[in-house]
Amino acid sequence: MEKAKADNFSITERKDFILTKGRQKDQLRCGEDSIAGVVSQRACVYCGARVVLNPVTDAVHLVHGPVGCASYTWDIRGSLSSGSDLYRFSFSTDLKEHDVIFGGEKKLTLAIAELAQKYNPKLIFVYSTCIIGVIGDDLEAVCKAASKKYKVEVIPVQSSGFAGNKSAGYRAACDALLRLIEPKTIEPGFYKEKRKKSINYLGDFNLAGEVWIIKNYLKQIGIDVNVAFTGDSSYEALKKATGASLNIVQCAGSMIYLANKMDELYGIPYLNVSFLGIEDTAGSLRKIAKFFNDLEIMRKTEELIKNEKTKVSAVIQFYRERLTGKKAAIYVGGGFKAISLIKQFKEIGIDVVMIGTQTGRREEYETINDMVDDGTVILDDANPSELEKFMMEKGAHLLVGGVKERPLAYKLGMAFIDHNHDRKHPLSGFVGAVNFAEEVYSTVCSPVWNYVTGTGAAFPAPQRAKII
Ligand code: SF4
Repeated sequence: MEKAKADNFSITERKDFILTKGRQKDQLRCGEDSIAGVVSQRACVYCGARVVLNPVTDAVHLVHGPVGCASYTWDIRGSLSSGSDLYRFSFSTDLKEHDVIFGGEKKLTLAIAELAQKYNPKLIFVYSTCIIGVIGDDLEAVCKAASKKYKVEVIPVQSSGFAGNKSAGYRAACDALLRLIEPKTIEPGFYKEKRKKSINYLGDFNLAGEVWIIKNYLKQIGIDVNVAFTGDSSYEALKKATGASLNIVQCAGSMIYLANKMDELYGIPYLNVSFLGIEDTAGSLRKIAKFFNDLEIMRKTEELIKNEKTKVSAVIQFYRERLTGKKAAIYVGGGFKAISLIKQFKEIGIDVVMIGTQTGRREEYETINDMVDDGTVILDDANPSELEKFMMEKGAHLLVGGVKERPLAYKLGMAFIDHNHDRKHPLSGFVGAVNFAEEVYSTVCSPVWNYVTGTGAAFPAPQRAKII
């Protein structure tokens, strides 16, 4: 491989996917497949699809492939349910060498039959994995035949791991959801007449009950959530998705495709929102209230924001005083979260010195570029070497990321915050902003850093602040 030439990248082909604000005028390249041979932090197509569909609580999730792909079981993910817990299982056809040679359709047919009889579900998602893309099993035909035979909706998810990147998996999941919610006949005017002050909440997976926090805020201002995609959702609720007058989209990376499709097919408009941090939560509630153009909703919204801000402001100030001047590195899945995190860190006095995503979109990177200070490194589809290099160079005290980034931070002697689907504490809404500040403080100021030789500095032991 050609030797690295520039000062801020180590693999020549990665040059255009990394920029330092203020030093380069070029646009960041993004939205492309990972470069072969680079150990990308990105998840595969199947993983992208699974992360979106997994929180459908009463569905059977059947992974057609080797058992290793089916690792999402029980409490590996933080999505909670108010009803069924069928989604917490992960079923696999457990393909072996013999099946790879002679085909896995028979095994898949038998697996669906067994699951249909044992659990009597209304919905089965069948995920394609890498090997299925290679051997060419006809998922569509097997699922169709099983649907007919067992009177259950069996939906194939075309998510062969290597066929693109995580974004392709999001799209495969959205296509599966569209098959589920598509009404058979649409009479003109039907949706307009039926809709009330009811919305669908797209791109929240109910980690640690986050959907419930936002539902509660919306209820207080007079708006119902018809169904969340897909946190704490069910087969029946998803079927009725067209009963809403508005879609709000939190995780745009995974759900913007579905929002656009629902706008196109059913005339349901959408708004981009974020309930991460105080500023974005307040802004998003106001945006929703404005959409309905109802004075009572607007009044209740302002009242709620005022009350919630009063509850949390002293606590945020407590942490802000102790964290000001610290530096954060961000590496998360999508752009919406990265943008909200910049604002959230500002709320607690922390500067962002490195920021990247797995699947950020051009417009999101432009927003990020406008928000960060000169000298901040922005990177798309990073690998561990790049993360290490820039975090060390920039003197980050903290990394925010997911399960794949955690060991890297700890090996570097750096504080870490889990902001992915594995976590068990809510980070949404006003209450989430407090949890976030508290967690940042606890990890950055942990006395453990006194015992490692890394970037960790000697900070005082954490004290807990009380919400007043
Ligand atoms: S689908 Fe492919 S890349 Fe994804 S977990 Fe399975 S084997 Fe790995």
